[in-house]
Amino acid sequence: MRLLVVEDEPGIAAFLRQGLTEEGYAVDVVGDGERAIEFALSAPYDAIILDILLPKKDGFQVCAELRRRGLRTPILMLTARGAVEDRVRGLDTGADDYLMKPFAFAELLARVRALLRRPAVALPTLLQVGDLTLDPVTRRVERAGRPIELTPREFSLLELLMRHPGQVLSRTQIAEHVWNYNFFHQSNVVDVYVRYLRRKIDDGFQPRLIHTVRGAGYKIEAPRQ
Ligand code: CA
Repeated sequence: MRLLVVEDEPGIAAFLRQGLTEEGYAVDVVGDGERAIEFALSAPYDAIILDILLPKKDGFQVCAELRRRGLRTPILMLTARGAVEDRVRGLDTGADDYLMKPFAFAELLARVRALLRRPAVALPTLLQVGDLTLDPVTRRVERAGRPIELTPREFSLLELLMRHPGQVLSRTQIAEHVWNYNFFHQSNVVDVYVRYLRRKIDDGFQPRLIHTVRGAGYKIEAPRQ
């Protein structure tokens, strides 16, 4: 899952980048409202974390403009403590949720996960393909009841595939959601990680679930019964 963080305070921006990256998210960080709009419209982010006080355009303007342009990506706004009118205004301009500064990182993570669950209505909490299950909240992955240990990046890749079962995802689509701006043009990174993932979830199991679709990309699918 790929996130855009819009925050002009270098300390908070670095803290968010590091923490979210460690959780396996692909993270891009921008420091002003104009860049925020440019980035948000140019890459398929899964969620946006948006500060209100920003240079060039503030968070309200950014949010309103993105919604006006039809962008439906979930937005979490960071507001100053106690500023009730900020929260109301944020929700009115099209933000999906807000979090008061200063915040605990664990709470931010929980809010982000909630936003990522939201877009697909009735998306099950537990993702399942054949005998493979992935729980986005506890981050547990099991195949045939056996727990499988994944790195954060492998987990992120598997989660993306499992959110689109049976659907072919191109290397570019995968890279755009699993890696940030600095990495996604290194095209073979996707193939390398798919290989890692296969070793863990397909080797030693039947049937194979991750399929290469020549010239198109990858998909995860269990054969029909
Ligand atoms: Ca700020």
